[in-house]
Amino acid sequence: MKTVYFDNNATTKVAPEVLDAMLPYFRDLYGNPSSMHSFGGEIARHLDRAREEVAHFINADPEEIIFTSCATESDNTAIRGCAEYYGRELKIVTTAVEHPAVLQPCRRLKALGHCVVELPVDSAGRLDIDAFREAVDEHTIVSVMWANNETGVIFPMDEIARICREKNAVLHTDAVQVAGKIPVDVKRVPVDMLSMSGHKFHAPRGIGLLYVRSGAKFKPFMLGGHQERSRRAGTENVPYIAGLAKACELARRGMAGEVRQLTAMRDRLEAGILAKCPDVRVNGDRANRLPNTLNVSFEYIEGEAIAYRLSDLGICISTGSACASGSLDPSHVIRAMGVPFTAVHGSVRFSLSRYNTMDEIDYALDKLPGVVNGLRELSPFGPGKNVTTFK
Ligand code: PLP
Repeated sequence: MKTVYFDNNATTKVAPEVLDAMLPYFRDLYGNPSSMHSFGGEIARHLDRAREEVAHFINADPEEIIFTSCATESDNTAIRGCAEYYGRELKIVTTAVEHPAVLQPCRRLKALGHCVVELPVDSAGRLDIDAFREAVDEHTIVSVMWANNETGVIFPMDEIARICREKNAVLHTDAVQVAGKIPVDVKRVPVDMLSMSGHKFHAPRGIGLLYVRSGAKFKPFMLGGHQERSRRAGTENVPYIAGLAKACELARRGMAGEVRQLTAMRDRLEAGILAKCPDVRVNGDRANRLPNTLNVSFEYIEGEAIAYRLSDLGICISTGSACASGSLDPSHVIRAMGVPFTAVHGSVRFSLSRYNTMDEIDYALDKLPGVVNGLRELSPFGPGKNVTTFK
């Protein structure tokens, strides 16, 4: 059975060009860039070139790029590192729909006595920018994602950055899901810190980056050697950094075409679902979403059941529930949007990449109505069923 992979916000296929760019660093170019000998010096020069490419991708200066192991590390470093630098009784402003890699460090800081504000979103997953302006004071630490991983909703980062500048607040953004989908220019949108993760745009798992604007202050999280200008200790993962640089280059060169391809596939999937399946709602601001992401709720049935049945047909999608942790609590993002109870459990996410095709979209559209109808027949909920109202 062929695999139709629509779970690209979870992780992506490593691009063949990325793998090719990495292999020499396993085979021949294995030296440590910090070593004094000429072999180490050669690797250090390769590392410099990779840093330049990654910096170019977001229009940063190379010294502003810190390589990390993943976005979770980047987010933790930014938030906890700023809090440690700025000291006691801080105000930290974030949103209720952040990834746990942001929410959990913020909640840890709250437990330590800082004031943490988790701003709500509206029913389309949008941030109320006036409420944001109101919440941010001088010297606040702000961590707001650029785009949401579950709904794809894009937050107005230029406006958020402008407000933070006006108020003299420090701004970190989790830009994991925008990489390769919308252009990021840290000179035009002046965030202070920004996290990205290689495996969300066709580099492997295990490499992330943290952009830190020149002059922005934080206390490093990883202590040890003097790598990364003493801001992130640990021998640099040169093969993966080379892979990340290649992924950045591919994304930079191919972005316009890729966005057109993703949008066309996503829109066909969305239109097909709405045409073929009754009682469906699209979650998230349809006018302002990532081009590859579609989150839909199928009323009266469980998202997990849909995902399992599609998986039996080779189609990989995801739900936002915490089922991996043993509970079937619906996603905190969908709940924060106030999606009605009949739909909240039935939400699923399709997330596409450049490696998907229209034929795969059509295959999913062919299979999905049967899956949904089959589950609805079994469900005790819904129109004409025993249970039609919910508390
Ligand atoms: N932030 C967002 C928005 C994400 O979607 C993810 C991963 O799903 C992360 C952070 C964590 O990334 P990583 O797996 O690189 O730690």
